[in-house]
Amino acid sequence: MVIDSDSDFFKLACAVPLQNATTTTLAKYGVELLVRRDDLIDAGLSGNKAYKLFYNLRAARDAGHSRLLSFGGAYSNHLHALAMAGVRYGFSTLGVIRGERPQHLSPTLKDAEQAGMQLIFISREEYQHKAFTRLLEEWNSQFGDFYLIPEGGAGLLGARGMTLTGRALEAQLKGDYTAVCVACGTGTSLAGLAVGLTAAGRNDKPALGFSVLKGDGDLGTGIAETYRQLCAKNNELGDDRWQNAANWRLISGFHAGGYGKKHPSHLFDFWRTFEQETGIPLDPMYTLKMMWGIHCLARQGYWSRGARIVAIHSGGLQGRRGFVCP
Ligand SMILES: *Cc1c(COP(=O)(O)O)cnc(C)c1O
Repeated sequence: MVIDSDSDFFKLACAVPLQNATTTTLAKYGVELLVRRDDLIDAGLSGNKAYKLFYNLRAARDAGHSRLLSFGGAYSNHLHALAMAGVRYGFSTLGVIRGERPQHLSPTLKDAEQAGMQLIFISREEYQHKAFTRLLEEWNSQFGDFYLIPEGGAGLLGARGMTLTGRALEAQLKGDYTAVCVACGTGTSLAGLAVGLTAAGRNDKPALGFSVLKGDGDLGTGIAETYRQLCAKNNELGDDRWQNAANWRLISGFHAGGYGKKHPSHLFDFWRTFEQETGIPLDPMYTLKMMWGIHCLARQGYWSRGARIVAIHSGGLQGRRGFVCP
């Protein structure tokens, strides 16, 4: 990944393999599944977190910053990616973690610390209330100036990076697909993907976001807002007519109990079967739930026969460590 060049980044996105993953179940319903292996773009820094960091890193560097700060939990794919990006692009990194420093760090945080990330632990209460103003001042005087990246790489710059997946996919398949699926936490990736498809002239193919959150409340409102701003402010599309385009949908009901909750046994069964049949590893928090959702929808007759579904593999495989996997 080269943060200086949009066109190199786009080339990289266009070279992402599309792997056939039509399982027995999907075949039964006449549905073809392609997995866009964005988890493979790089050994250390991959998945949607790499896309979401791209313009953030560029903005930080352009503003003359040499230090980055962001937030996350003990298994955060985002903080992991940020630590890796710091090493690669010469930033020092600060990771603010929810909760006390545990006796044994998670594999994620061990990696991050080894990569030079300075870990700052704050109480859950402080984290919850996002009472950061005072803390940010404290960190500022303690560590010096830093560039702040929102939790999970959310925000406009993050979404903008994800537009590359939509544009690249269209360049690869030229409309020969029915819908594109992505796992959804903050919805930043979904918004970016949808804008990317629209930017590529594919407003007729829906981007479907599978929410991993139990109460996704006003997630849709946030996605619509990101979509609108991405079209207007950053001028990703250079055309205000697209501001109200609605080529995305949020799909709830496949959160399997909610984020970070223990998986029910049928989800484990699905996980095992999927990986055995396709050879594609899934992460427990996001891509597993999306894939499960795609299969449930097949049983419900949501996809018509002959549908060709693309699923974005948004990475997160580092999060498998410390998790009981199939
Ligand atoms: C963070 C993450 C997501 C969710 O991305 P959002 O842009 O927050 O919706 C999906 N998949 C994986 C593997 C992730 O790490």
